[in-house]
Amino acid sequence: MDYAPGILVVEDEPGISGFISAALAANGYDVEKATNGKEALMLIASHCPDAVVLDLGLPDIDGQKIIASVREWSAVPILVVSARTHERDKITAFEQGADDYITKPFSTGELLARIKTALRHARTREVTQNSAPKPRYRLRLLTIDYDKHRVFLGSDDVHLTQMEYRIVDLLSRNAGRVMTYDAIMREIWGPNATQDYQVLRVNMANIRRKLEKNPAAPEYIKTEIGVGYWMAEDE
Ligand code: CA
Repeated sequence: MDYAPGILVVEDEPGISGFISAALAANGYDVEKATNGKEALMLIASHCPDAVVLDLGLPDIDGQKIIASVREWSAVPILVVSARTHERDKITAFEQGADDYITKPFSTGELLARIKTALRHARTREVTQNSAPKPRYRLRLLTIDYDKHRVFLGSDDVHLTQMEYRIVDLLSRNAGRVMTYDAIMREIWGPNATQDYQVLRVNMANIRRKLEKNPAAPEYIKTEIGVGYWMAEDE
């Protein structure tokens, strides 16, 4: 690797911090460590790491507050690594702007794969911000033509309702990232959307019936249980 991406590991438990840092360093990353929230905020601002691995349970500032505060001025990928498995914690983290949420315990292989994905997303975001928007999404048989507002499976035209198309459009433009039910509701049904996700579930069931070979094991739009949906990244 010519350029070693810098990763800031924010973790107060020395054992876990050491384990994560060693795995990252062994894979060519330039690792820095912070053991509390204040130090983390300072290092993110001054050293501009390429990604941040963040524990939520820190001694001074809660990790959720750190995500919110960093998001006010930086788009650096944030991967939460936490023992908190509750859906509420995941939802909050994604809503504050976390890019991924990894539950402890996890394997180094999993962590490395997800850091790679987060770094790739960050690069893609940069590229798309500086160029024309992508004309289409394509993965295996599925093609979404944004200009024509049409969806194809192979050469077959898939007939989606306007609502179904808007959901697919939204998820595909955010491919690879979890979108919470709330965020989807707000985007599609507006800020006055009710908190009833039933309408979203019904639409999703219809979308999957139309797009997926096996709607019970979807390959395009996946469920993050209790949190939201995410669409597989395109090619
Ligand atoms: Ca901790």
